[in-house]
Amino acid sequence: MFDGGEKCAVVGVFGVKSSAKLAYLGLYAMQHRGQEASGISVSNGEKISTIKGRGLVSMVYDDAMLEKLQGESAIGHNRYSTAGNDSILDAQPIFARYALGELAIAHNGNFPNAQAVRQRLIDKGAIFSSSMDTENLIHLIAQSHQVKLRQRILDALNQVDGAYSLVFLSRSKLFAARDPRGFRPLSIAKIGDGYMVASETCAFDLAGATFVRDIEPGEMVVFENGKEPESIRFAASEPKRCIFEHIYFARPDSMLFGESVYDVRKGLGRLLWQEKPVEADMVIPVPDSSIPHAIGVSQASGLPFELGIIRNHYVGRTFIEPLQKIRDLKVKKKLSPIRSLISGKRVVIVDDSIVRGTTSRKIVSLLKEYGAKEVHMRIASPAVLFPCFYGIDTPNKEELIANNLTVSEIADYLKADSLAFLSIDALKKAVHSHEDFCLSCFDGNYFHNL
Ligand code: SF4
Repeated sequence: MFDGGEKCAVVGVFGVKSSAKLAYLGLYAMQHRGQEASGISVSNGEKISTIKGRGLVSMVYDDAMLEKLQGESAIGHNRYSTAGNDSILDAQPIFARYALGELAIAHNGNFPNAQAVRQRLIDKGAIFSSSMDTENLIHLIAQSHQVKLRQRILDALNQVDGAYSLVFLSRSKLFAARDPRGFRPLSIAKIGDGYMVASETCAFDLAGATFVRDIEPGEMVVFENGKEPESIRFAASEPKRCIFEHIYFARPDSMLFGESVYDVRKGLGRLLWQEKPVEADMVIPVPDSSIPHAIGVSQASGLPFELGIIRNHYVGRTFIEPLQKIRDLKVKKKLSPIRSLISGKRVVIVDDSIVRGTTSRKIVSLLKEYGAKEVHMRIASPAVLFPCFYGIDTPNKEELIANNLTVSEIADYLKADSLAFLSIDALKKAVHSHEDFCLSCFDGNYFHNL
């Protein structure tokens, strides 16, 4: 289970009445990409208004708030916080006034050279109010000598290295840009007479928008009243889409980089079984993220697919101390095996990934506690050996279990009867144009100067 990250969601709406409500629906559909905070900025042509709050989309906004956010263009963001960094100051969109007027920005990804850029800006006198890389962009845009906003944005983008999908809202325009390697997804849809952009296409489905195309790596699209969207190619580079979007981050009903996430995940499961079969009685997923992968394993193996573990979707913090100390209470609150189903059975448990291994260990122990005779863990991605520098908050190398232990040592640590990962070759087979994907956390080949 890939835990933690800054996958985040961005949305933009242009040329549509009630743009804030559509942004809200887009963010609602993309809640899985970030639950820490949410924000929407709206322009009515004269000024930009912003609402931000901590928590889920359904908690941050209400009807009255959205009613007040009147305007025909909007951007929004769901934030997935990194540990210890959950201040409301770090919620997006970021809003600023500068020489050309007002600007709001929302951002998914990160900039590996952010510290160096920030230091340069501080040396020139810039004052920062958050710890977000995104704030660098505000200063770079404000300090640019270009006359037009679009040129200032391009000026800023040319000074940052990294993985980003960005939306910018001025009083009269919307800009949407994807980094030159296209790590993070960003797509365009048509809605009424206007447009919508979003990190994932599931946002369009809920808002009633019709998918048009992906924004290309190194492309910025400018939306302006009375004009067709204008495409500006600001950088050319080899595409390096994040393969983890397909493995885990995106919702299975999204189309990602031109492929169905659900189909890719089932394919990963099928390939996993072809490579690493085992004698067993049933296949069960770690819910919910690994369900499509496990369906693929089941289809390839002919073994029955069973929902052997039920996930409680309503988990919050527990304020009542249990009467006696319950081992692994945190995992048990969330995941509950069906004893009558797995008792005495040889179980193949399918997960999308292993990072630290602590949750996997608890899941194996839970299945054994509920009577499973054998537990065979199958991971529908290769071993994560290297950290991510492109916006996903993986632990450092020392904390990645596969970096410290061999596969059989990990199996021993998990107390699993067997463990197998998908090979990198099989992962490449599961997607179209594998050479266009980033695999750095598996193979350590990075694309920037570390
Ligand atoms: S290193 Fe891994 S998580 Fe990071 S962008 Fe590349 S594939 Fe995605």
